[in-house]
Amino acid sequence: MENKKNVTLNKKPKVKWRKWIQLFFFLLIAAIAINKSLVENGGGITWFSSASLHAICPFGGVETIYNLLTVGTYIQKVHVSALILLGLVTFLAIVLGPVFCGWICPLGTIQEWVSKIGKKIFKKKYNQFIPSKVDKPLRWLRVVFLVWVIFVTAKSGTLMFQNADPFYALFNFWTGEVAPMALAILGATLVGSLFISRPWCKYLCPYGAVLGFFNKLKFIKPSRNSSTCISCKKCDQVCPMNIEVSTAKSVRDLSCISCFECTSDNACPVPETVTITWRS
Ligand code: SF4
Ligand code: SF4
Repeated sequence: MENKKNVTLNKKPKVKWRKWIQLFFFLLIAAIAINKSLVENGGGITWFSSASLHAICPFGGVETIYNLLTVGTYIQKVHVSALILLGLVTFLAIVLGPVFCGWICPLGTIQEWVSKIGKKIFKKKYNQFIPSKVDKPLRWLRVVFLVWVIFVTAKSGTLMFQNADPFYALFNFWTGEVAPMALAILGATLVGSLFISRPWCKYLCPYGAVLGFFNKLKFIKPSRNSSTCISCKKCDQVCPMNIEVSTAKSVRDLSCISCFECTSDNACPVPETVTITWRS
């Protein structure tokens, strides 16, 4: 197919690697959470990991750093594995940006699954309900929430965030241990995903706020070649975080989750127009 700039558009079918990787991590973490419950009740698979969610969540590492530096101990329920994962995710974020959010985090994945229903209902209106004037200041809420979480965790020495954590609620709602506020936030996140893409990630996730800063440092970023761009705005439409890729030279927005859906290997129809490039 030819277009007005006489470029040949992409026709080859896309391999959705990201979707498969997201599914893998979602099932893995669900299996670990379910197995832990079964082991506690005398069942489960004993050779399979029965680690708690806190032990396999890198945000536990963020929460415990203050205690570790000041008192020399981990906060309740968090141990060294969370710090190791925090190191790995941080390394990935320095190189690629917040790939943890875009490719691994099961809470991001389930929001994307729900968004498919929203897209069917609202079509092009999906993810366009919040005006930019309101959306932009709201994005800073997650930084405020991050500061609050670190403050209350350091002050109390316990995982206070668990009481509001939709990730913990998602993989523990059957245990009776989840605080009503966490269940309510999980419910609001899933209902909100019917209208806007990744509402938790955009406005409240404290770990997303941490990883978002790495967008300013990352070595690998999506870049747009303006000489071949046909201004079709498909990159903007597909971006779950409402980033205007179609006018950017390269993407360093704090909200980018490094999903790479905007690239010419995915949404952009013109080959070699949105590409993944190394920082010079
Ligand atoms: S700018 Fe591209 S890589 Fe970043 S979140 Fe949007 S679609 Fe994903
Ligand atoms: S960069 Fe965006 S606007 Fe330009 S051709 Fe690709 S999808 Fe269309």
